[in-house]
Amino acid sequence: MRKTIQGKIYPNQKIRKILETNSRGCQKVYNHFIKERKKCDKNKQKQPNKYEQKKQLKEFKDTNPELKNIQSQILQEIVRVKVPNTWQKYQEHKKINSQAKYPRMKTDKGWYSSFSYPQRTIDKNGKQWVFKIENNNLIIKQGSAVKKSERELKTPLKLNQPIQGEIKTLTISWKNWDKILVSFTCEIKEKPKMPLNEVEEARGEDRGSINLMADNKGWRVPNPEYWKKEEELINELKRALSKKQQPRFKGDKTKLSKNHAKAKRKLVKECQRLTNRVKDRNHKITRRIVDKNDLIVYEDLKMKKMVEKKNVKGKKRKISKYTAKGLQEVSLSMIKDFSIYKAKEAGKWIWFVNPQNTSKECFECGMINKELGKKRWFVCVNPKCDYENDRDVNAAKNILYQGITELGTGHGRLSPRLLERV
Ligand SMILES: [Zn+2]
Repeated sequence: MRKTIQGKIYPNQKIRKILETNSRGCQKVYNHFIKERKKCDKNKQKQPNKYEQKKQLKEFKDTNPELKNIQSQILQEIVRVKVPNTWQKYQEHKKINSQAKYPRMKTDKGWYSSFSYPQRTIDKNGKQWVFKIENNNLIIKQGSAVKKSERELKTPLKLNQPIQGEIKTLTISWKNWDKILVSFTCEIKEKPKMPLNEVEEARGEDRGSINLMADNKGWRVPNPEYWKKEEELINELKRALSKKQQPRFKGDKTKLSKNHAKAKRKLVKECQRLTNRVKDRNHKITRRIVDKNDLIVYEDLKMKKMVEKKNVKGKKRKISKYTAKGLQEVSLSMIKDFSIYKAKEAGKWIWFVNPQNTSKECFECGMINKELGKKRWFVCVNPKCDYENDRDVNAAKNILYQGITELGTGHGRLSPRLLERV
């Protein structure tokens, strides 16, 4: 499995300039190849394949010799991975919305603020590398056009946690315009999963709108109240930004004012602070769940989206990430991702079940309560059954039971104590 380890580098002014130039070079290459794709699309031609792209990149570098200062692997990665990914996303989007616009060009305003080294290549003599870590320093190589004596850039490096496993890629990105972040993706060995018949502690987790999470034992994590306040604060900052001097229509030659830049920084900083806060909280929640349990069952929310009806216009609704509702959606998928990797790291089980009817079904008798609606308290409609419980706890119980049943029928013997856990 892959794990990302982040850190910061502290380059001097000279190296900082070089890195920024590299980044702008990447922007140029990215824009060029997106443009080429647009051209092909408009002329109804076939998109170039891998080899043609390689050739195109070489030609583009010949006409823009300054690009030869950049490590060639960085540029190749843009052409091979980033541009095709963006294009694929555009095409998927187009299937839903026929009026989808072409991918945007990266401009200097929101310049191409990251680039990646695809892999750490070292030959047997330890000579052919593009980046390496040495005594708390990161050393990266420039392209072949740079003088040999200046080809290696050395900057102090501070990692958030020690490197584990084998480093695969390095990404350099900018944060708040001045800090430079690095992230290494490392390939680490997965711990083998514990045998199913040794699984003792199991939890079913219901994820939802009032409670972010609720489990079958009644442990609940409500949606934080500060999200509403944050939403208001961010909206206020957005309004302030929109009042600053800036071009208002296409062809308007008004320049962006200094105050606009200031207001934008304020907004971005606030958004980043909030993202960090949400991330931190979700790490804590998932750490607690994974440490205490051997098996965690979630409902597969992707399936839920398929089950859900589309809105009146039949369009997919888009919610801003920084509203209370958006933060909840972001949190739900974050919790899923964090749980998956934490469980993999610890060799524990994680299972996803179909969410259909998990909240409407009675845990005791299985009858479906069609009139449940948005009621918070579940009361069984079966006259012979007197079961009642918190809505989310009932759902979590159903989820866990379904997960255990599916695992038990297809994946081996379960520990007999497991069913008592529901
Ligand atoms: Zn019942």
